[in-house]
Amino acid sequence: MIDSLRLDWLTARGKALSHLYVEKGADTPSAQGTHREAVNEGYRWVGKSSTYAFPTPGEAREIIPAEIVFDADDAQDGWYAGIEFSGRTRITLERAGESMKSVLGLNPEPGPFRTRIEPGRSFETPTVFLGAFKAGPDGAGNQLRPWVRAVLGNPLTWNDAQYPLTVNNSWGSGMQVDEALALRMIAQSKELGLEMFHLDAGWFRGVGDWYPDTKKFPHGLTAIADAAHRLGLRFGIWVDWTQAGLDTAPGALNVHDPKVHDWLVSEMGPDWKPEEFKGQTIDLGVPAARDYAAGEVKRIVEDYRLDMLEHDGYLVAQGCIREDHPHAPPNHSTMKIVHDWASDFVMASNSTDVSYHAVRAYYEIYEKLRREHPGLLFEICNDGGRMVDFGSAAHGDYFSITDTYDPLSNRRAFYDASHLLPAAMLESYVEKWPAPRMENFLYMLRSGMMGWVTIMQDTTAWTPEEHEAARKAIALYKQELRPLIRDAQLYHVSERPDGVHWDGVEYWDRKRGQGVLFAFRGSVADKTEHRFVLAGLEASRRYKLHFEDGSAPDCEVLGSELMGAGVDLHLPDPLSSELVFLEAAASSGGA
Ligand SMILES: [Zn+2]
Repeated sequence: MIDSLRLDWLTARGKALSHLYVEKGADTPSAQGTHREAVNEGYRWVGKSSTYAFPTPGEAREIIPAEIVFDADDAQDGWYAGIEFSGRTRITLERAGESMKSVLGLNPEPGPFRTRIEPGRSFETPTVFLGAFKAGPDGAGNQLRPWVRAVLGNPLTWNDAQYPLTVNNSWGSGMQVDEALALRMIAQSKELGLEMFHLDAGWFRGVGDWYPDTKKFPHGLTAIADAAHRLGLRFGIWVDWTQAGLDTAPGALNVHDPKVHDWLVSEMGPDWKPEEFKGQTIDLGVPAARDYAAGEVKRIVEDYRLDMLEHDGYLVAQGCIREDHPHAPPNHSTMKIVHDWASDFVMASNSTDVSYHAVRAYYEIYEKLRREHPGLLFEICNDGGRMVDFGSAAHGDYFSITDTYDPLSNRRAFYDASHLLPAAMLESYVEKWPAPRMENFLYMLRSGMMGWVTIMQDTTAWTPEEHEAARKAIALYKQELRPLIRDAQLYHVSERPDGVHWDGVEYWDRKRGQGVLFAFRGSVADKTEHRFVLAGLEASRRYKLHFEDGSAPDCEVLGSELMGAGVDLHLPDPLSSELVFLEAAASSGGA
């Protein structure tokens, strides 16, 4: 196996160094999520990433494949490195004596790694990036995020003035979607000021049979797309387009169809059944399967007049029993097949090679689709937060960052991922959550409004007061918050959210001289006050502060004070929030 990059840094013995890495928000964000560790003599770390990211109790969770290493002293200068690939990859970091070594590339385990190269073809190790920075993890992030946007991002997407979009998603009703619900949600979206209607799972005839269920959608999906477009909204849908099921209608991916059978990663027994929205993955690394999927995805995008395509599920295979696929054959004596919720997952010596081929095919399909449909948006969901990496960032437009959607999980997943990826790409689904008071309702909304916001609840159940509050919050998002989320520098100005204490995130756009502090109060009854120490400002400059909910009168404060003593927040209710807008005051004499 060929690594992508091997680093060996000459490092003074005893020099204090820190290492920061973040977990994927897969399933539910863990209690830690963002890891900051001392890199002492003898330090050994391995971080792994794949398209699966099953959190296993007692085992290290998968990471967003990057590492940030820096001097633990005041300047906190350092370097970062990461991998632009979605397949099975790993990063190691070790310190011994004067040497600090790091290796980045494909994951050689479970080995022995083998690949198969056809005559005239080549094997390409995943691309990696390496950078140097000043001023700690936020200094790293404020350099890395714009780089991801400029180098990996899709320029068309970033030129879209509505990006990141505000979305109304149907999963609040689960699989129980139909035309009436869709039309009602489209009208609600318009009324609330949301910009896209996102039809989630439940619209299709069956797994692998990606045609609208005519009982639910008698006029098909084009009627829904047209209804959204008539109101100036965009339209997107959920598809798990590499999953095969049992439907026998023409065009369906059926596991017993001999052609499809040859593309599967494992043998399905005669009694096998798919779940409601999950079946068995086909191996995209097989050229015929890739071509089929490419045609099917193109049909879906064109026939249903999509502005956005969300892919979900374990789209990209890892591990495969087949000897006659382009990847290396598995070692049958060490192979394990795990059955989980309608899918067979193969853990085998060829897992990394299978994922290598499948990911390349997945990238090809999306690159082609982007060329054919400029402006089409891709949401990378993959069972919620399991495919968050820099290769996906180069082929999609935004990520579902976790599969748990309460305010705390949303803030935790955002806190972690925003160390490495542009905030605009980080989507939070805002689910129904008990909000007895308006303060709690706003807390729920704002916990999902630090990046891309998708509302995922029955908004018809909201009270008139909640409707009005949501309309205002969405308008404020589009007008004031979105420009900052797109362009501003980001600072983690609290510990990671725990739901108990206060937490916050600051945006500061130096060019515009504007920023905002998202402040959240946790559940402790008597902690009505908190002081946030801000960052990124000029010490000698004065800043106007506006407290959106009026929790304090507007005022003007010197930068040195905001970055020294900090700004005081006072919120009387637990589980509430405030937005503090910052604006550089016109400089006056000598400052
Ligand atoms: Zn295969």
